[in-house]
Amino acid sequence: MYCSHCGKEVLNEAYVCPACGCKIAGNDDRLSSLSIVGFVLAFLMPLIGFVVSIIANSCAKHNGDEKSATFAKAGTVIAACLMIIYILVIVVSGIFIGSAIISNMTVTAAVAVA
Ligand SMILES: [Zn+2]
Repeated sequence: MYCSHCGKEVLNEAYVCPACGCKIAGNDDRLSSLSIVGFVLAFLMPLIGFVVSIIANSCAKHNGDEKSATFAKAGTVIAACLMIIYILVIVVSGIFIGSAIISNMTVTAAVAVA
């Protein structure tokens, strides 16, 4: 049989193509390891998890692996949400720290003038 992704000839019992690393449709109904990695990374490192999940999603779609594609899609959504939350936290804490420094300087300046 042939890999549905790159077209290379692969063993009939193979469930991952040795040439391109993609799952071979129909030989395995587990979730693709790439989609699981992407999902886990979405929580730990959203940016990397986002990229890995997108790759896993397109790879799974190419192989007709609906389950892994859906799982990878969930990974991209979670990674995107966490990235937004992290950015907001950084921006908000930046504003707080910034305004704290400014008000500190104002107090120091007022004391110095007085
Ligand atoms: Zn292949």
